Amino acid sequence: MIGCECDVCRSTDRRNRRRRAALIVESEGYSLLIDAPPDLREQALEYRIKRVDSVLITHAHADHVFGLDDLRRFNTLQKTAIPVYGGHATIEDMRRIFDYVLRAPEPGVYRPEIIFKEVSAGQSLDCGCLKVTPFEVEHGRIPTLGYRIDNDRGCSVGYAPDCSAMNGPAIRQLRGLDIMILDALRDRPHGSHLTLHDSVNLLQKIGARRAFITHLCHDLEHTAVARRLPDGIDVPWDGMTVVWS
Ligand SMILES: [Zn+2]
Ligand SMILES: [Zn+2]
Ligand SMILES: [Zn+2]
Repeated sequence: MIGCECDVCRSTDRRNRRRRAALIVESEGYSLLIDAPPDLREQALEYRIKRVDSVLITHAHADHVFGLDDLRRFNTLQKTAIPVYGGHATIEDMRRIFDYVLRAPEPGVYRPEIIFKEVSAGQSLDCGCLKVTPFEVEHGRIPTLGYRIDNDRGCSVGYAPDCSAMNGPAIRQLRGLDIMILDALRDRPHGSHLTLHDSVNLLQKIGARRAFITHLCHDLEHTAVARRLPDGIDVPWDGMTVVWS
């Protein structure tokens, strides 16, 4: 956290150096990005991200969308426009925030080539070989989606980085998951994020084979929080790769 001198912010353990939350799901050469945080450029450089075939946006908070402009490099590499999916209100916000993307081309002005597409909870769509099912999550007042992604070999992952609660239909949509990744901001209650305690409870209800917490703030030290988690729930770190087959 900017200007903070706490033990976590001064930690020499790189796992305590957290950039804004995002996820890449890859299957059979197809690369699906979830959220475009302001750190996207640095993350793509450090983790050698070479492809982004489509993008899912959970909600239009700045920490999840302000890196969208950097998709233009993937347009150049792939020589194609990139679809960006989100709920109705999210896409409305994106059209406002990134209005220059939608204007007629001007010589010398670079911007990403994006096709905005609306999705709704419970309605699956195909992204390459991946089936994507959006589900509703509560996150303060902003309409927010989580995403379940299944590949055609039966591997599945669910992602809800910003979430304060989940309704019954959403939990049912996550049945049988291999991996679930869920918000766990800190121990103290927050109006729009899960506490660590509530996150663990919700993860146990979802019952994925393996689970990770994400979107941690500097109240939570990596090793200390890892020790407090039950078996099957782990703390990831920036750049962590999980291989599942
Ligand atoms: Zn701090
Ligand atoms: Zn948010
Ligand atoms: Zn966030």
